[in-house]
Amino acid sequence: MIKAITGTRDTLPTDIPKWNYLQAIVESVFSNFNYKEIRTPIFEETTLFARGIGEATDIVGKEMYTFVDRSGDSITLRPEMTAGVVRAFIEHSLDKKQNLNKLFYVGPMFRQERPQAGRFRQFHQFGAEALGSNDPLLDAEMIIMAYDIFARLGLKNLLVKINSLGIPSSRENYKNILRKYLEPHFEKLSVESKKRFETNILRLFDSKEENDCKIMENAPLLIEYLDEESLEHFEKVKQALLASHIPFEIDARLVRGLDYYTHTTFEVVSGSVGSQSALCGGGRYNLLVKELGGGETPGIGFAAGIERILLACENEKSFSIEDEKLDLFLVTIEKGLENFAYQTAVTFRRKGLTVDLDYLNRSVKAQMREANRTNSKFVLLIGGDEFARGEVVLKNMSNGEQKIFSKGDTEKIFLSIKEN
Ligand code: AMP
Repeated sequence: MIKAITGTRDTLPTDIPKWNYLQAIVESVFSNFNYKEIRTPIFEETTLFARGIGEATDIVGKEMYTFVDRSGDSITLRPEMTAGVVRAFIEHSLDKKQNLNKLFYVGPMFRQERPQAGRFRQFHQFGAEALGSNDPLLDAEMIIMAYDIFARLGLKNLLVKINSLGIPSSRENYKNILRKYLEPHFEKLSVESKKRFETNILRLFDSKEENDCKIMENAPLLIEYLDEESLEHFEKVKQALLASHIPFEIDARLVRGLDYYTHTTFEVVSGSVGSQSALCGGGRYNLLVKELGGGETPGIGFAAGIERILLACENEKSFSIEDEKLDLFLVTIEKGLENFAYQTAVTFRRKGLTVDLDYLNRSVKAQMREANRTNSKFVLLIGGDEFARGEVVLKNMSNGEQKIFSKGDTEKIFLSIKEN
């Protein structure tokens, strides 16, 4: 038997209503904040991600689905959306059309990670990017949108963590301080951290190795070395979050180890999903657009993982969705009336009702069972003495009430169903 590839999942019809529920909330919150949807291709030139995410990251270093296509070009399935959105922003000169572009997206991403609960190889993200302004209110806006989406999904067990990476000059200065602190401990660092010491020193804060953690516990923190401009920016973000009633915590160890990240970084974690607890992550990237060949354009964004969010919702039973109902099920009482039933069904479907009927030549009893299984609000009984008189019977399944209509009077039947 051929099975789905490890780390990928089917979303079956029974799960789709949850996804649609989430998507409707996502679209509604983004629309309230005036973000417009953007769709970019699922695959791009590999160079885009190498430059846009950074060679020194785990994503580019070991997780990308990269292949050479038949023309000999190196192609990669997108592992995240920011690089693609920024590419599109530059390619279509979106900055010429308006000074600030507020964009959002929803779609599948691909990373060859070790699958576990809440971690997949094809997973789905929604997220937003605001390109064209350095206003700290936009940093806060990202966090407020993410938080509001989670809150509207009914999630409670949330922690918002924020940090500031400041501007590049103060970060460079700090990196030297961190390097000096780490030099005497260098030999005790893990192999991975030794590598990161050279390539991406801030990421030593991300190490899970016990020994590394011990060493990093006493490390100087970037936030203690921020310049005035960066502190002021951070202060404005915090004030805006307080004013919008977002509970947050400062986590000075929350780093995004890339040179084009600036100022705010944040993450929202859930206490309800086990070890893969980050529901979303984001930050300001004032140097990225230039890095990818565009003009100097400040930007900020975040991305949230849909599978993980739905897992948190399920574990917290944060919302419930009513079973889907059919408006009408047509029951054919005697043979020979199937065509009439079928045409009647098509007529009601074209009027906008959700309608079904038997395709399996089932008995009347089995057809009624099917009407119950599909939660049909009404059943139209076709056949018997009534049909011989030119009539059909509409049965209201919630109270058992029956009404008789002339069989050609679809408009009256339709209105009677619509009234309920
Ligand atoms: P990142 O783009 O790595 O900052 O991730 C943003 C969010 O996407 C995370 O907080 C997760 O919710 C989700 N995410 C990232 N990687 C995966 C994965 N492999 N499987 C499921 N969700 C993921």
